[in-house]
Amino acid sequence: MTTTDTQIAVPDTVRGELRRGVRSVLVDPVALRLVRERFDSEQAGALGRYLAASQSPNTVRAYRSDWVAWSAWCAAEGRQSLPADPLDVAVYVAAAADARKTGGEWAFGAATLERKCAAIAAVHAANGLPSPTRSDVVRLTLRGIRRTRRTQPKRKRPVLLHTLEQLLAELPAPGWPTEPARRRDLLILLVGFAGALRRSEIAGLRITDVSVHLDHHTGEPMLLIQLPATKTDPSGSTGQRVALPRGGRPPTCPVCAFTDWIRLREAYAEHGRGGLPGWLDATPVGTDLHRCHGFTGTTLTDPDLPLFPAVSRHGGLGSTAMSGRAVAELVKRYAARAGLDPTLFSGHSLRSGFATQAALGGASDREIMRQGRWSNPRTVHGYIRTANPLDDNAVTKLGL
Ligand SMILES: [Zn+2]
Repeated sequence: MTTTDTQIAVPDTVRGELRRGVRSVLVDPVALRLVRERFDSEQAGALGRYLAASQSPNTVRAYRSDWVAWSAWCAAEGRQSLPADPLDVAVYVAAAADARKTGGEWAFGAATLERKCAAIAAVHAANGLPSPTRSDVVRLTLRGIRRTRRTQPKRKRPVLLHTLEQLLAELPAPGWPTEPARRRDLLILLVGFAGALRRSEIAGLRITDVSVHLDHHTGEPMLLIQLPATKTDPSGSTGQRVALPRGGRPPTCPVCAFTDWIRLREAYAEHGRGGLPGWLDATPVGTDLHRCHGFTGTTLTDPDLPLFPAVSRHGGLGSTAMSGRAVAELVKRYAARAGLDPTLFSGHSLRSGFATQAALGGASDREIMRQGRWSNPRTVHGYIRTANPLDDNAVTKLGL
């Protein structure tokens, strides 16, 4: 039998039913035996082979574990799994639909719940029994589950400025071995927010994509991020540039964060992980002064070096870039540390947070679209409506 039986503690009654029913979830053994009696073994073999191939091994495996779960539930509740009472199936599916993981998310998606019913139907069919899942009570329960899930889309929260400050307050302590993670994560959060970057854009950045320039209006340094051209980008093959001005305060200055991160990367390249603790002791970073003025370029000119590699908890830097998913997990992780519900945040929260915060600060659609590289004003209008529901709205002119 499959590993399913060894992984799950299966009651004996269920084990018996498994042997009886599920060995051929999809191929009716009685019908096949009749075929063998009426046709020669080659014909029967060919038929059996194609019938067995009619479902993917993954589906059969999923059906098996679904059937084990259903049989175990029946054994626990004192119900009969085969043939099953439609009402029992409906109660079972409704309870599974309410089950949640420890993190608060649904234990089963709507598609998985439907597959659980399909598995029960398949075993009934393989045993020549009418399917309990065709009954109204099961069909309507499934429909109710689908509608309930559809009407509750989890809208991700934007990271607004005060949220960003909550996240930044949860950065690991300065010093070895958390300093690499501290510097990297600070830069990711600042650049992702101020640059309105997508998680894939953050993950895809290389060191050579970012440079420090002089802002001629203020005489202060600023960051220029050159985003690689994408195939879907209508503006052409040159890619897009995102400018980030120096922050007002050193702790939230993107240019300082970039400077600190690049200095650490250079030290890592020169001394390795073992040399970093000593280097950190010798070059302490004050938080009350801007470091960005002193940035004169980097020795790290290899165009393949990712800006944001993985960082181990022992302070080691990986050679490959973080994935977009890892960026999203990072945002969720800091949200959880700050006591916020991590399921409400995603990698997109930095980008949507930029638009919402900029709208709150009075930025025009055009200004928001420029930094965020949005080409569709409707997307930006959505963020502005969320930020200022009464702004630019005729309801304020009613004279009530
Ligand atoms: Zn600075």
